Amino acid sequence: VHSRQRLIPGFDVTALWSATVTVMGLGASSIAVRWLVRKGLGHLKAVDPDIVSLSNYPRQEFTPQEVASIPSPRKVFALGERLVREAPGPLVVEAYAHTVQEAVALGADLSCDVGVCLVDSDAARLFCARWFRAQHTPLLVAGFSPLADRGYVFVQAGEAGADAGCLCCLFPELAGSDRFYRCAAQTADLPLVMGGLLLYAVDSLVMGRPRDWNYREVGLGSGVLDVATQVPSRPGCPLCGGSGAT
Ligand SMILES: [Zn+2]
Repeated sequence: VHSRQRLIPGFDVTALWSATVTVMGLGASSIAVRWLVRKGLGHLKAVDPDIVSLSNYPRQEFTPQEVASIPSPRKVFALGERLVREAPGPLVVEAYAHTVQEAVALGADLSCDVGVCLVDSDAARLFCARWFRAQHTPLLVAGFSPLADRGYVFVQAGEAGADAGCLCCLFPELAGSDRFYRCAAQTADLPLVMGGLLLYAVDSLVMGRPRDWNYREVGLGSGVLDVATQVPSRPGCPLCGGSGAT
């Protein structure tokens, strides 16, 4: 199954099999999770309180039967069962039908090698940034502009370092924000682009594939040129203190 992947310099199927990835928020960007499993991930933890709805169909992995089903299935269970069937090898899925804040409060074990934050509120993003920082675990964060014409992927490092800016170093306004982006504009194109970058970022964290950025921004054609950069820690950052430390 993995013969072509093994030809890629630095690609390590065993590392992916041995890895645990926790995904929080199964919105549009979670389209990447299917491919993470097909690439050979061994252990997935999925956290999302929502049910499958008809409007998910143009950009998410649910079947016509699932989106039309009454009562609607929980996203974590529908996706989890499908991924177990599709996986090319043994796959463990832990599914938590809660918000990430609820799951942690209930004592769920979300520990992992890489966290992936795809939630739709600033409070949940900040919670993830703080919690994974405290666990010394790298966290990938993806988000989109309200008009779905550009998106970003950010890699928050698990350990302090010169280029280890945290999510609040990147977005200072996040601290204290209570904005929700529920049911925002979206179609499949941008999630597919950003999902590919998410997949690559996971590889860069669990195996020897190089990555010379911790922030990528991609515009689809509305005047925002693509960005690839290293976001440094920011003096006075309320989350990391500006040192990139916990
Ligand atoms: Zn910071």
